[in-house]
Amino acid sequence: MRLRNITGCRERIAETPYVVNEEELGSCPGTWRSRFGNDHEIHIEIGMGKGQFLHTLAEQHPEINYIGIEKYSAVLLRAVQKMEEHPKENLIFLRMDAEAVDQVFGEGEVDRIYLNFSDPWPKDRHAKRRLPSREFLARYDRILKKDGFLEFKTDNRALFDFAVEELEPAGWKADFITYDLHADEGLMEGNVMTEYEERFSAAGNPICKYRIHR
Ligand code: SAM
Repeated sequence: MRLRNITGCRERIAETPYVVNEEELGSCPGTWRSRFGNDHEIHIEIGMGKGQFLHTLAEQHPEINYIGIEKYSAVLLRAVQKMEEHPKENLIFLRMDAEAVDQVFGEGEVDRIYLNFSDPWPKDRHAKRRLPSREFLARYDRILKKDGFLEFKTDNRALFDFAVEELEPAGWKADFITYDLHADEGLMEGNVMTEYEERFSAAGNPICKYRIHR
């Protein structure tokens, strides 16, 4: 994700009601449904970027609560600006590093997790930072409800092969694996494109996707 230095973006993120205050995050586990004021399912996207995917889903599914997680204020600000133009009661954002995801959600509090076009971290010594790594799968295991599932899309074949290899040692199983999502009519039904998916599929890159559960 290319970052432009946007003056004052941290301050703007700190002030907006659409991003949970960083000081509050530690007291959030177990409180998400009451924060939304309903008992609807909670779906999260980790590494949401500018938020196109979640904005679309939140519009399509008012009966689901969506939470977007993004590390960088400058990127998150774009998602916030979209909220200012088109507010949605079922969507909220967290500016945080996903490493702490299991300190922000309670055990089994999340119904579904999305990873889209996660950063590849190509050096072996950085494998633990990859969002579909076994270390992250262990964090997701704690917050995802028993029969919940996780979906991952990417055009990066090396990252996807790594992600598939991580499943067995981490104790997860695939419901499906595809190496060319856009060629599969069935799997494309209801597919919501992310910003990166639009860009890379337009460039002719096949999109890989899996859905996994424990
Ligand atoms: N999901 C979006 C899409 O498909 O268009 C954005 C993809 S972009 C390549 C990856 C995003 O994940 C970046 O915005 C990056 O800042 C964010 N990210 C990477 N590692 C993260 C982490 N550990 N915690 C939170 N966000 C992270």
